[in-house]
Amino acid sequence: MSNLLSNSASGTLGLLTDTEGGAARALQELERVYAGVVARNAGEIEFHQAVREVLFSLVPVVIRHPEILDAKVFERLCEPERQIIFRVPWQDDKGEVHINRGFRVEFNSSLGPYKGGLRFHPSLYLGIVKFLGFEQIFKNALTGMPIGGGKGGSDFNPKGRSDNEVMRFCQSFMTELYRHLGEYTDVPAGDIGVGGREIGYLFGQYKRISNRYESGVLTGKGLLWGGAQVRKEATGYGLVFFVQEMLAARGGSMDGQTVVVSGSGNVAIYAIEKAQQLGANVIACSDSNGYIVDEAGINLDVVKQIKEVDRLRLTAYVEHVPTARYVSDGSVWDVPCTVALPCATQNELDRSHAEALVRNGCKLVAEGANMPTTPDAIAFLQNAKVAFGPGKAANAGGVATSALEMQQNASRDSWTFEHSESRLSEIMTDIHSRCFQTAEKYGAPNNYVMGANIAGFEMVATAMMDLGLV
Ligand code: GLU
Repeated sequence: MSNLLSNSASGTLGLLTDTEGGAARALQELERVYAGVVARNAGEIEFHQAVREVLFSLVPVVIRHPEILDAKVFERLCEPERQIIFRVPWQDDKGEVHINRGFRVEFNSSLGPYKGGLRFHPSLYLGIVKFLGFEQIFKNALTGMPIGGGKGGSDFNPKGRSDNEVMRFCQSFMTELYRHLGEYTDVPAGDIGVGGREIGYLFGQYKRISNRYESGVLTGKGLLWGGAQVRKEATGYGLVFFVQEMLAARGGSMDGQTVVVSGSGNVAIYAIEKAQQLGANVIACSDSNGYIVDEAGINLDVVKQIKEVDRLRLTAYVEHVPTARYVSDGSVWDVPCTVALPCATQNELDRSHAEALVRNGCKLVAEGANMPTTPDAIAFLQNAKVAFGPGKAANAGGVATSALEMQQNASRDSWTFEHSESRLSEIMTDIHSRCFQTAEKYGAPNNYVMGANIAGFEMVATAMMDLGLV
């Protein structure tokens, strides 16, 4: 089996006309694989969407490497190595019993142990876990770190729950999940609804029932108990480092940009922080009820107090900053900006939002969340020549810094904030050039979607073929 990476891609997309037969066969085969995925995974629409986006950007790779088809690499990639679904019983503060569903999808371990976050959100079901796990495979490959892809979580809603209720839920969740984890097997972290508090309770329970202080089994830990500097900030900071590279590739910089961010969770907060440090004016952010506009520049201390300490809604912002506006109808994407950073959740930015952004002069969109932009919105932005950074490249700083946390845990070391941040910055620069160069190599300059999908896929597919039929 030839190595996809060492085989220099001298051809380009433009060459497709010379190999029309190859292109037609590639498309036909990919359609067949995709139809199989839809049939086998009925109703899992987010998973279908994530698979579709990756598969059809790989046509030029398939043309050059038809052996991928014979090795059934796509069929293997789209079928998780293992899927775990379990009952999570717990009691609330009044003694009432609740039953939630827990998930862990161990998708692909060809590059390293399964790695990816846990999401606690009432909307969570297998289709969302699988879309996230599938994306994670390529994202993790792009970081250049030795991590495979997985994802998990529960339909538990931590909103409005007391610390004790969250603790009891986490303990019950880990009591089942622990048997599937291990620093060389599967290493979860946070995602929506899972932050430092939840990771603490999960780690405490893992330690208790395994009788092992196995720091490398979870990432996103507190700094006193095995956590790493910059992990909390990493997804948001990394996103802005990536945006900086995208702007630099066009001769621009962050300084003086007007930025709108959706969301106000961990990713949004630290994207705002880094954008402000680099001289941008961040004027809006949102939560699931509405958004705030503060033309003077968002006061991040206030947002941190509201969201990280008080765990309140964004409406509280205008009580602290009366000059700001709170808007409860419409969309944050109606606010004019030059740079838009969707950092909330999947499919939050649709075609009508993309149209509003372009109308108002937006020049760059980069995804802090996973798959926040719908496929037709991506196509619209790309046609309008808006630079578009897909999440699996742009938000990879979080998981990359998780891999740095694993590295520190394995060597019982802890690095300074400055060193950790410069490692993160280097990694984001590398991811950017990997995507940028791959897009050029395949005749689609500036197409970061193709660049990210192809670069990530080449690494995973090569490792899968090297490891044989497993
Ligand atoms: N949930 C984050 C992501 O989407 C981080 C995963 C991790 O650090 O393992 O990449």
